[in-house]
Amino acid sequence: MKILVTVKQVPDTSGKVAVKEDGTLDRASMQTIINPDDLNAIEAALTLKDRLGCKVVAFTMGPPPAEGMLRELMAMGVDETVLITAREFGGSDTYATSQIIAAAIDTYGLEEEDIVLAGRQAIDGDTAQVGPQIAEKLHIPQVTYAGDIEKDGRTLTIKRILEDGYMTIKVKTPCLITCIKELNTPRYMTVLGTEECFDMPLHIMDYNTLKDHPLIDATTIGLKGSPTNIYKSFTPPQKGAGMMLEGSGKETAKQLVSILTDKHII
Ligand SMILES: Cc1cc2nc3c(=O)[nH]c(=O)nc-3n(C[C@H](O)[C@H](O)[C@H](O)COP(=O)(O)OP(=O)(O)OC[C@H]3O[C@@H](n4cnc5c(N)ncnc54)[C@H](O)[C@@H]3O)c2cc1C
Repeated sequence: MKILVTVKQVPDTSGKVAVKEDGTLDRASMQTIINPDDLNAIEAALTLKDRLGCKVVAFTMGPPPAEGMLRELMAMGVDETVLITAREFGGSDTYATSQIIAAAIDTYGLEEEDIVLAGRQAIDGDTAQVGPQIAEKLHIPQVTYAGDIEKDGRTLTIKRILEDGYMTIKVKTPCLITCIKELNTPRYMTVLGTEECFDMPLHIMDYNTLKDHPLIDATTIGLKGSPTNIYKSFTPPQKGAGMMLEGSGKETAKQLVSILTDKHII
């Protein structure tokens, strides 16, 4: 049994978000971090590894400097990492991204007992589409928003957190689960891990590695294979000054409800 985790390196959007004059994100001037939900997915994988003794493999699609992030993951306890990188993969939207990552996972090998973990959402693209799309393309079941994961043989019991409660779902491996921050608190790298991670296996999957996979085709990857195109991006305009309503009676409350209704807020 092994756990395959998808991890994205993202710009740290909690700090200053730099936007270029043409409106595109100035990624080069922003610090990169491991996508927060993906750290929860890694922690879930490592917790299962501690309990069951399985192998944990992390996959990322990104430019070559993403190797640094993969070494960090190995210093935390991940056994192997896969860097999916090629010029042909650049400009991919979520459809193309999931196509490529699914091909990489399939090429690595997905067996009956295996689990694929992803974050719920990446803080830069923010779509929460890639995990479910990978599951579709691998033809495996998926459970999103996992707040707790228990494993008994090939059966996983997942607490799926919803806005107003939770549901408990049982699913058989192989399956894909998307993870949220309520799941756990990610661990730190260990001192020994930071020494050992440089000698650990980091596989590169480039265009040549994946080009013969049925999911990889000029019409399904990269900018040309992306059904969506970013037409324009811009910084949202600053909100105007706040509006003060006088009084604390029923009439003022009615006025507030009417304003919020007109703006389709309620
Ligand atoms: C036309 C177009 C062009 C684009 N061009 C570029 C570009 O040139 N460069 C660029 O960086 N982005 C580009 N993007 C953005 C790109 O689509 C997203 O970065 C990517 O598809 C992931 O979507 P997301 O960030 O919404 O992830 P989500 O769907 O929110 O992510 C969910 C989870 O999926 C996994 N995941 C997502 N992406 C990756 C990844 N790359 N590797 C490993 N795991 C992952 C993670 O576990 C993550 O938590 C482009 C988008 C469009 C529409």
